[in-house]
Amino acid sequence: MSNANFRQRTARRLPALHWQILIGLTLGATAGLVANAVYPAQPDGTPHAGLTWVVRNIAEPMGQIFLRLIFMVVLPLVFSALVLGVAELGDVRRLGRIGLKTFLYTVGLSMCSVVIGVTMANAIRPGLRLPEQQRTALRQRYAPQTEEKVAQAQQAKPLRETLLDVIPRNPLQEMVGALDGSSPGGGMLAVMFFAVLFGIALTLAPERTQPLIAVLQGVYDTVMVVVGMAMRLAPLGVAGLVFSLTALLGVDILKTLAWYVLTVLAGLALHFFGVYSIVLGLFARVNPLRFFGRASEALLTAFATSSSNATLPTTLRVAEQRLGIRREISSFVLTLGSTANQNGTALYEGITVLFLAQVVGIDLTLGQQITVAVLAILAGVGTAGVPGGSLPLVVMVLQTVGVPAEGIGLILGVDRLLDMCRTTLNVGGDIAIAACVDRSESRA
Ligand code: ASP
Repeated sequence: MSNANFRQRTARRLPALHWQILIGLTLGATAGLVANAVYPAQPDGTPHAGLTWVVRNIAEPMGQIFLRLIFMVVLPLVFSALVLGVAELGDVRRLGRIGLKTFLYTVGLSMCSVVIGVTMANAIRPGLRLPEQQRTALRQRYAPQTEEKVAQAQQAKPLRETLLDVIPRNPLQEMVGALDGSSPGGGMLAVMFFAVLFGIALTLAPERTQPLIAVLQGVYDTVMVVVGMAMRLAPLGVAGLVFSLTALLGVDILKTLAWYVLTVLAGLALHFFGVYSIVLGLFARVNPLRFFGRASEALLTAFATSSSNATLPTTLRVAEQRLGIRREISSFVLTLGSTANQNGTALYEGITVLFLAQVVGIDLTLGQQITVAVLAILAGVGTAGVPGGSLPLVVMVLQTVGVPAEGIGLILGVDRLLDMCRTTLNVGGDIAIAACVDRSESRA
């Protein structure tokens, strides 16, 4: 039997990739919870030594190999996809129209998500349900990480500079630091600005720039092949990532923060199944359940990696191959959205700030709550699409409304779990917007 034949046969015997990822996720989570129950943490909260060894040396590297393979191609992908997207749109007016629609959908959806978050935090009042003794214990346990986040947030720049920084002085330097927040300026947003401008320039001199477009097309196609290879490892990588989380975390901390976690999860679920479904049904004219079923590979990857940027390659692939969204639209909307549209994060930020204010006994006025809502929407745009990318911004919002930023130490223990869920919404929102814009453009 030839090699290709053999490969085809094995591929046929395996279930579809999204099922494999789901199986990896379930097995990883179950194994982690069982391991945590069999080898529990010591009374002071230090995890079991043997289990820590397994996590550090086996499960985490499994997850990291997968993640790094994908992160490796995020920058060439963002650049080539955006430039090609803009160049394929062909005319600046059409780009402006699509840009405006994307912007309006992003702001509209973020507003809905924040309103849901703030309303739920006021209705459920999760912060008033945490006993004093547990607050102190949690604060002490996460003190070092808290200091780090507060220090990060203190480096926050004034609004004028934040806006100016979107225009990069040195795009290469921005690229170098884009994935770990060490860029001197606007990071990923600045890279995107450069790419969009580059694409516009290409369309203005079409006769002389064709070879460059062909090269970028080559880069894009090659990167997609690498993504395909990395995705084959996704089931194992996902199992490793989820095992590391559940094995060390267990369910205890979830019990302590149950009200807070439940409020966030209920808000996210409402936004996902309610708002997204309505928007998809009304504006994209598709059946939301079937739509998200087809997008499940991207949603599961978002859930497992907690990173919109790491999910972008999969999102682009799914949009084009499974959802039939035109590439010139998906590459523009999804690439921008992976950094700028973060509904799940905005919702989570609203609830978190109100929760922490309740915990420390600060009654936020209506005006302050509106400030929180506006800042949460803006913070959604500025949040890096990487795991925990929103934490420095949560600290910034806390400081703005006068809630002690150290409070964030209370929630760090469950943040990864919530990060997985909010990232799924962030990515789901990007895909929904792309579908809506695609539909409206086909009628335009
Ligand atoms: N992890 C999120 C994302 O990549 C950002 C965050 O909320 O921390 O979309």
